[in-house]
Amino acid sequence: MTVLDIGLPTRASESGMPDRVTIWEMSPRDGLQAEPTNLSSATKIELIRRLDAAGLPVIEAGSFVRSDRVPQMAGSDEVLRGLDGVQARMPVLVPNPKGFDRALAAGADDIAVFLSVTESFSRANLSSDRASAEASANEVVRRSRDAGLPVRGYLSMVFGDPWEGAVEIGEVVRLAQLLLEWGVEEISLGDTIGVATPGLVSATVAALEAGGVPIERIALHMHDTYGLALANVYAGLLSGVTTFDASVAGVGGCPFAKSASGNLATEDLVWMLTGLGIETGVSIPALLEIAPWLAQQLDRPISSRVATALIGKDSK
Ligand code: MG
Repeated sequence: MTVLDIGLPTRASESGMPDRVTIWEMSPRDGLQAEPTNLSSATKIELIRRLDAAGLPVIEAGSFVRSDRVPQMAGSDEVLRGLDGVQARMPVLVPNPKGFDRALAAGADDIAVFLSVTESFSRANLSSDRASAEASANEVVRRSRDAGLPVRGYLSMVFGDPWEGAVEIGEVVRLAQLLLEWGVEEISLGDTIGVATPGLVSATVAALEAGGVPIERIALHMHDTYGLALANVYAGLLSGVTTFDASVAGVGGCPFAKSASGNLATEDLVWMLTGLGIETGVSIPALLEIAPWLAQQLDRPISSRVATALIGKDSK
């Protein structure tokens, strides 16, 4: 019997798909903030340097939240200062004006803010009602724009909320329009608890476009909680979306939504895109070296189908 040795997917293009997709790598921020093991700044720097070498064009490098609330993100200042020479864009998440001051002092030149589509998650995640959270994010965006920095806006709980159930698409459109008015360059739609389905992705993107949000300013941030992250990405591709978020080894989830497990793994996303003949600039072999290394640092299994298929379940 021959041993199956498949290092890359077979390419077969499909019509209606983009030629190229941009991946925003989430593991150093959205990934690590949800993991129980805290990594040292030196290890975070090594992770970001490895991801940069793997060809990821955007790597979210850290978060300027309160370290008593999210201890995993303590030292983001130190991490940013240790990243000279990295080619990738390195946005940092900034929840409020105080965090913006710290980010700027650490040399951040690319900012991200976030808002919850639902009131319940805003209170749980931001400890703030939506009106106050909007005012705070607006201030961060204004100051970022004044400083000439690009800003991305994350929307959480876009496709469903654990407390409130289904989410009004109209509310997603309202917040996306608000972020664009402020001057945010791109809006990432977060499926924070992984309940999106492909038809809902298509409907949401269509509603945003009908509401005046250009397709090139929409990104998708899918979680694989119910096994539909790639199906949802596929629906997004058919709708014309060309920017997707993912996290190597599938690390992370959501620290405040107990039911959320697992960002879409970067290697799974790149595998599917490569199979569709879509360029990402990201090396699958390089990701397959980073995934087990990161899983070992975090003492957790790899939640990626591709990494598991190619390097084995017990590789950590
Ligand atoms: Mg996530």
